[in-house]
Amino acid sequence: MSSIRRLDYFVCGTCINHQQMIFKKEPAKELIFPAGVYLIEHAEKGYMLYDTGYASEVMRPTLRNLAYRLPNPIQMTEADTIDAQLRAQGIGTEDIGIVFVSHLHPDHIGRLKAFTKAQFILTKDCYQTYLKSRFRELVFRDYFPDDFAERLIILDLTQKSEVVEGQNCLDVFGDGSVIVYSLDGHARGQLCLHLPERGILLAADTLWRLAFINKLDKMRLIPRFIQQSYPAYLASAQVLKSFLAAGVRVLVSHEEPARVREVLYG
Ligand SMILES: [Zn+2]
Repeated sequence: MSSIRRLDYFVCGTCINHQQMIFKKEPAKELIFPAGVYLIEHAEKGYMLYDTGYASEVMRPTLRNLAYRLPNPIQMTEADTIDAQLRAQGIGTEDIGIVFVSHLHPDHIGRLKAFTKAQFILTKDCYQTYLKSRFRELVFRDYFPDDFAERLIILDLTQKSEVVEGQNCLDVFGDGSVIVYSLDGHARGQLCLHLPERGILLAADTLWRLAFINKLDKMRLIPRFIQQSYPAYLASAQVLKSFLAAGVRVLVSHEEPARVREVLYG
């Protein structure tokens, strides 16, 4: 019997980027990056989220928001929040027992505060970033609930992956249904979820689009610089290649919605 009863996808805000600003020798093209959120229903653990998308507060005209939105204009409304979209499906914020936090960027943690009953799962390295949170790591401290620290589960990945040689992981519930990986590069300790029953890896911002995997040598300096470590970014792209070679379908957080829906719903 399968443990993952449901895996659904929500677009919780979008931002605009330009292909020619990310890669050299590419034609001008506007790219819309959705902030993807996943809802997982586990047979025993109930409803869980992978990230929470943007907060609608990001549209308020504060200095910080204007500076944040300047390079990548954002589209976001109250109705786009993950809690509003769940409510429309009859799922209350109190029904979410666990939120896997991939990393601490604003488009992933926007609505943490809405989930007052949830425990938050982070990798050990991501927790270190939370403790330090320098500006370059783009951590908006006011996005965290006041009792965030009390509701944290910090994971130490002590098991050996059966999919990728030399990679550590953790079978979080001990039933083989949700395997956590930590892929550095974009952000330290970025939490990725392998769902073997579905043959899917949720890979946050390991890449902004899976299709970018073969042109990373053409990436411009600024997008390289905004990664936590570009060498680690390249190494994590190799890990994704190992997953793909093993027949696992990789979904990154800012993937084209049409591709995500094709993978999830066929
Ligand atoms: Zn990010």
